[in-house]
Amino acid sequence: MATDSNCLFCKIVAGQIPNDTVYETDTVLAFRDITPRANVHALVIPKSHEDTLGQMAADDPAGVAELFTAAREVARLEGIEESGYRVVSNVGPDAGQEVFHVHVHVLGAQELGPVGPGRG
Ligand code: AMP
Repeated sequence: MATDSNCLFCKIVAGQIPNDTVYETDTVLAFRDITPRANVHALVIPKSHEDTLGQMAADDPAGVAELFTAAREVARLEGIEESGYRVVSNVGPDAGQEVFHVHVHVLGAQELGPVGPGRG
């Protein structure tokens, strides 16, 4: 498993920084975002370090599929699978990616409005 000692999310995976876990498998961890932007806002990350979703799609497509399966499981556990939810990933500067360890945001439990600048 790849790890980066300077990476915030690798430190969460290693248990060095606490997190509010929603769901976990051998390869994936889902936890509540520290600055929630919706009534439900969780992050789903691979435990193995990859910088961006774009890079992971090239390197490990099966791992990307696991992230989306886990996102659905988070939605089920949070009771929003039927009401609907949004899965988004910021890739690179224009998207405002802050943490360069792959993650998808799972947002829901309210109407989210259209996807677009300043949203999502
Ligand atoms: P992004 O802008 O897509 O890179 O998203 C990074 C997300 O990580 C932001 O929504 C932050 O609020 C969230 N975040 C940063 N530090 C933590 C932390 N220690 N625990 C949970 N979420 C965090």
